[in-house]
Amino acid sequence: MKRNKDIWVFGDYRNYFQNRVTLQILARAVDLSTQTGGTVCAVVLGHRVDTYVAEYIAHGAQKVYVIDDPTLRSYSIERYSWLMSWLVTRYQPETLLVGATRFGQEIAPRVAKKLKTGLTADCIDLEINTKGLLVQTAPSFGGNLIAKIITPVKRPQMATVRPGTFPELPHDDAANGQVMVLPLPGDLPEDRIRLVTSEHRPSKKQKIEDADIVICGGRGMGSKGKFKKLFDLAALMNAEVGATRPVVYSEWVSHDALVGQAGKNIKPKILLSFGISGAIQHTAALSDAHFIVAVNKNPNATMMKMADVAIVADANQVCLGIIKAIKEKARD
Ligand SMILES: Cc1cc2nc3c(=O)[nH]c(=O)nc-3n(C[C@H](O)[C@H](O)[C@H](O)COP(=O)(O)OP(=O)(O)OC[C@H]3O[C@@H](n4cnc5c(N)ncnc54)[C@H](O)[C@@H]3O)c2cc1C
Repeated sequence: MKRNKDIWVFGDYRNYFQNRVTLQILARAVDLSTQTGGTVCAVVLGHRVDTYVAEYIAHGAQKVYVIDDPTLRSYSIERYSWLMSWLVTRYQPETLLVGATRFGQEIAPRVAKKLKTGLTADCIDLEINTKGLLVQTAPSFGGNLIAKIITPVKRPQMATVRPGTFPELPHDDAANGQVMVLPLPGDLPEDRIRLVTSEHRPSKKQKIEDADIVICGGRGMGSKGKFKKLFDLAALMNAEVGATRPVVYSEWVSHDALVGQAGKNIKPKILLSFGISGAIQHTAALSDAHFIVAVNKNPNATMMKMADVAIVADANQVCLGIIKAIKEKARD
């Protein structure tokens, strides 16, 4: 088959309700396809996957390739990566996008290797250049550089995309999409790994990228002990805690909490920012925050200027004050 302009999105539906990255990538693929032409396609491998097929169509997929078989019920890296490369070889899409989840990070490089193409990992933007090539923007050298990478020769152009990078399209029940149900290929290799048992452990923690309230702390919190108070406040407000790079580098909090160019993009309804100067590498990830309250000793800090409410005060004192007020209110 001749190569076409199609943009494929790997259906990463495992942990679907915590992980909407496929929907986010579909939305971007729809944007990109208006510039390149071609069809936006999702690929779903598994068993009894109708719900996800319908969901992907409702979120922008014009076509969904499905291989539904009981032997695919449990995930197998060997079989899934083999099937993905088989499908790509057969249908020749121009581009293949995968969520940079643990699952996606495992499968994407294997597929790229089988297809002998390049892969840009953990992209934070995707655009089309004047030559119609996919420009894949990703942090590199530990976040010290932002690289814009193209794949001029090999195909497909492959990228994994960081969750939370793009907003998903609204669910459209009336959307139509073509569903291509394919049988399991006869030459699919036997699985060398046998799943003995699996257990679902629901996480109580919501993802910072999806949280309605985020409390971000910076170096101005002063110490690891003082920073911990932000977690007490977050527990009272059902919020998630984010941090700036110096805080993460000082190991006051794990890398998961990093907000910014080298970390997560967030889109909370309310963002409380404590002791943060507002460097561009941090604020780049806040453009979708609806309402920002910043606390800083310096009224001229950039973060204070971009806030809806700027409180000139000691960040620890304000944090402790809010905790006290919430607790008192709860006692009333
Ligand atoms: C390639 C690259 C990538 C980067 N990626 C990221 C990224 O993803 N995320 C990120 O956050 N940074 C990133 N950075 C670092 C970024 O440039 C800034 O250095 C960082 O965001 C600053 O963090 P901060 O605001 O906590 O610290 P500072 O800039 O030191 O600011 C501390 C603030 O706290 C205030 N303050 C001090 N004491 C108090 C107090 N008691 N009460 C109230 N306020 C107080 C100060 O007035 C100041 O405004 C990156 C840098 C580079 C070069």
